[in-house]
Amino acid sequence: MSQFPVLTYLLLFMAGTAAGSFLNVVVCRYRTGQSIIRPASRCPYCSEKLAPRDLIPLFSIIVLKGRCRFCNKGLPLRYPLFELISAGVFLYCYHFFGLGPLFVRYVVFLSLLLVVSGIDIDNHIIPNRYVAALFLWTLGWYFILLYPPLESALLGLMTGGGLFYVIAVLSKGGIGGGDIKLMAVLGFEAGWPYVLVVFMLAFLLGAAVGVALLVCKKKQRKEPLAFAPFMSVSFFISIFWGMDIWEWYISFLF
Ligand SMILES: [Zn+2]
Repeated sequence: MSQFPVLTYLLLFMAGTAAGSFLNVVVCRYRTGQSIIRPASRCPYCSEKLAPRDLIPLFSIIVLKGRCRFCNKGLPLRYPLFELISAGVFLYCYHFFGLGPLFVRYVVFLSLLLVVSGIDIDNHIIPNRYVAALFLWTLGWYFILLYPPLESALLGLMTGGGLFYVIAVLSKGGIGGGDIKLMAVLGFEAGWPYVLVVFMLAFLLGAAVGVALLVCKKKQRKEPLAFAPFMSVSFFISIFWGMDIWEWYISFLF
């Protein structure tokens, strides 16, 4: 496959959009409590059953110009967005890791994070079972690869969870229990010292977006901001550039 890099990228892009389409269904059906497999997908507005030709990732939404074939209402921007983000994850992981164990490890982990972020945005909750799945997935890989050292992961877990716990206590509910658990698991996966990169980036991003939303009057001051997306983006950045950011940061201190 490596002799045809363009073909590999194209196939992974398509696989990524298909995965993103499925992940979006998982997020949408968390709220409605429906099964992921059945019933068939329907238009969120007119409830018409969608045919397979309406469900081809990205392609269908472009052909239909982003509108439902039956009621002509504009489909949520989230559908193509999820497909594009997921495709980006597939391509980036391939670019950095090739098609090996690390590709599988990070594609699955980041896909789960995408679902958690979507659910947090919709429902302001981070379900325990997803946090547990992320933890078990990472733990499994430590036993398979025996790398990085488990001490670094455990220190990351305690630092991530501990820092968020302190902030939760100080902010009196600004950060929920789900956030603390998720940050602990991200610290476990990122390890020491990269947990600090995830932590700092998440707060910088959260603060920047929070202020931007306030300025644009999209949110009231009291409305909580779902924090999982910021943690997820920061974790994504830290996988690929954590070392660079950490060295850059250290160069300021010494
Ligand atoms: Zn419709």
